[in-house]
Amino acid sequence: MTDVEGQVKHEEQEERDPEREARRRIALAQIRQYPDVALKMTARPVEEFDEELRRLVARMKLLMEDASGIGLAATQVGVLQRLFVFHAAEDDVVAVANPEIVERSEETDVDDEGCLSIQGVVVPVERALTVTLAGRDEHGTEVRYELEDIYARVAQHENDHLDGVLIIDRTTPEARREALAVLRPRIGIG
Ligand SMILES: [Zn+2]
Repeated sequence: MTDVEGQVKHEEQEERDPEREARRRIALAQIRQYPDVALKMTARPVEEFDEELRRLVARMKLLMEDASGIGLAATQVGVLQRLFVFHAAEDDVVAVANPEIVERSEETDVDDEGCLSIQGVVVPVERALTVTLAGRDEHGTEVRYELEDIYARVAQHENDHLDGVLIIDRTTPEARREALAVLRPRIGIG
């Protein structure tokens, strides 16, 4: 199972490390949860590559790590800017502003995905197996990443967030129905 945004490991972690689990819960409380309206909005391009942006990037990287995620989009923290942080490789956490997927393989792969904003839901999503991601870092410098497998998957997942597109919009009708059945009883309860 692909662990996009890293939310399917937490039961093991809870047993293993209560302090880590407490940090994860605190981080998740700061991440917008479905059906928060920010998750359905289209983000605007980043125009200022200033200290404020770099502070936002630092905060998002910390939240992502604490939440045991491998990607986090600005819309998930209620900031409607085209920006996300993600693992471009195992130990390479980067920020990409104004990202564009400039190339994608025709070859696709279907795997299960979770989302830090949709707790308790894992659905199959078809993604391109490899992508080329272009954009700018938090200093305004142009960046370009050739990504494959899990790294290509998470980049596509985060890029979707900037257009208000969620995994439940990308999955099969059956999986979407099941996911909504899990999510609906929570709405209005608290
Ligand atoms: Zn997500």
